[in-house]
This record gives sequence, structure tokens and C-alpha cells, in this order.
Amino acid sequence: MNDLILAVPITEERPWLVFGACRQGDADVFFPDSKSQEAEALRICATCPVRDECFAYAIEARETYGVWGGTTEKQRRRLLRRSA
Ligand code: SF4
Repeated sequence: MNDLILAVPITEERPWLVFGACRQGDADVFFPDSKSQEAEALRICATCPVRDECFAYAIEARETYGVWGGTTEKQRRRLLRRSA
């Protein structure tokens, strides 16, 4: 059985991703084309046990695209601007 459906690979930088709630389901929603896909990704992130690690990674790595750690790319841009 292959339940590993990730939009991004698990790497040494992101070992916690193996525990991510995004392991199952439609990985495309994490790089959404619509507000409904974005909302679905955020709903999944809200249940994720590694949300804090994912958010910290996304900020540190300045991930430009997609939903990471329960935030949209727009929200992260805003946070980075405020902390600059
Ligand atoms: S917080 Fe969201 S994007 Fe990050 S690992 Fe969890 S489900 Fe995936």
C-alpha cells in the first residue's frame, strides 16, 4: 500500500514530514489553484501533529509557494515583512 502522497519530498531538512497529515489525501491542495483548495489544505494542517515544525521550517527556508505549517504563502510573506 502506498499512502505516501506528498507534493514535496521528505528530505534531511524536513524529516518530520513523515508524520505530516498531508501524507494522505490530495497533495495538490497544498499548492492550491483556488480558495477552496487552499481552505482544504489549511483544514488538514489544523490536524497535523508536526504543524509547528513545518511552520518553523517554512519561515526559515522562506518557502515561497504553497501551504506550509497552517499558513498560506501570503500569510508567510506578511509575517516575514513584519519581522524584517
Ligand atoms: S502542517 Fe500542513 S503542510 Fe506541514 S506537514 Fe502538516 S499537513 Fe503537511
